[in-house]
Amino acid sequence: MKVLKFGGTSVGSVENMLNVKNIINDGSEKVVVLSAMSGTTNQLVAIAKDITEHRGDVAAEKVNALHVTYNQVIDELLTDAALNAKTKTYVSGVFNFLLGCTSKWTAELVENQIVAQGELMSTYMFNSFLQQEGVNSVLLPALNFMKIDGFKEPDVQYIEENLQVVLSESGPADIYITQGFICLDDAGEISNLQRGGSDYTATIIGAAIKAEEVQIWTDIDGMHNNDPRFVEHTNPISDLSFDEAAELAYFGAKILHPQTVNPVRKDSIPVRLKNTMNPEAHGTLISSKTSETGIKAIAAKDGITAIKIKSAHMLQAYGFLKKVFEIFETYQTSIDMITTSEVAVSLTIDDDKNLDKILAELDKIASIEVDVNQSIVCLVGHAVVNHQDTFRLFQILQDVKIRMISYGGSNNNISLLIDSQDKIKTLQKLNSYLFEMAAV
Ligand code: ASP
Ligand code: MG
Repeated sequence: MKVLKFGGTSVGSVENMLNVKNIINDGSEKVVVLSAMSGTTNQLVAIAKDITEHRGDVAAEKVNALHVTYNQVIDELLTDAALNAKTKTYVSGVFNFLLGCTSKWTAELVENQIVAQGELMSTYMFNSFLQQEGVNSVLLPALNFMKIDGFKEPDVQYIEENLQVVLSESGPADIYITQGFICLDDAGEISNLQRGGSDYTATIIGAAIKAEEVQIWTDIDGMHNNDPRFVEHTNPISDLSFDEAAELAYFGAKILHPQTVNPVRKDSIPVRLKNTMNPEAHGTLISSKTSETGIKAIAAKDGITAIKIKSAHMLQAYGFLKKVFEIFETYQTSIDMITTSEVAVSLTIDDDKNLDKILAELDKIASIEVDVNQSIVCLVGHAVVNHQDTFRLFQILQDVKIRMISYGGSNNNISLLIDSQDKIKTLQKLNSYLFEMAAV
């Protein structure tokens, strides 16, 4: 069985939903994971914020406006009167629930309850549409099997056992439709896999049912070798290894949730990235195969904070780094890049929620310099650290100020830390010299 995930734009208009139907309706059994309609999750996040911050009236206005939009989509999508009415009743139930959410609940409960509704509605609507078109489909409620543990990792055993039960109770069908993104937490409360989490849902399910393949359908022809928002002439990458894909997803290639390949890597289940608007295109195949092609892709991640920690105590001493790392551990902040010299260590974080507390602790043991608005530019490719192109890097980047560099941490990645205002220039220069082979 295959698992196919369709993102927000794929279910964002009636025309696109028709495309999705044509892609999935080939008579073979499959699980289809859906995101919320595009834009919905952002709107739900805003509504949750209004409620928590006591702007109930503003929230109610937004809820009612969204309800009108959903009814319009349903009218366009469902010409069958009975299915139309049934779906509108379901959606009305959701919007009434939203109107009843209150600032008396914790902010977390409000947000988790509210953002989950996007996927619940898109799957209900799409399933109704398939029924109308005579497709043999059934809904699998994700909250009956998808669960994370206390570390926010998928609870693999729970998921495998419960998914089997849900599948056998609701089948047989050609198409099993389920919600991406949403899950239960370890206390059984409604939660989610973080923004963009539907990709992760697809590979978690893929691993749980030992799928032959997971397909992630979006609105672009696979993962590109540079960021198409900032650079012209980017190309889709046809093949990536799991390691390369993981580095790219983490370091800013927005197309994939950063955890996506983790669940399927162990069983080498391939992940194919495809374009709903152009199904014939090859897309990107992520698998256990590697190919020796030097630098395959460049990605950038913004919002990075760099911290330089300087201490005379570091000189020929041991245990200093341990103290530093313990501070980050206490505040549950993960470190991305790190470089050291004999008297200083520089590192980067992307989550600055606890920055003040971290700095206060570090201040007790060292002197500190902080740079905000930094970007990590990451070059990825199999054995990239050994490849001949790599030695051209410094020539290429002569006029970009590199704040830190990480080389050799893994064979597949070289990371540069730069000021965010130099990012576009850096991406463009790297693109023209590495992929368009302009002379240095
Ligand atoms: N709807 C969620 C989001 O917008 C999850 C997803 O689309 O993957 O983040
Ligand atoms: Mg996404």
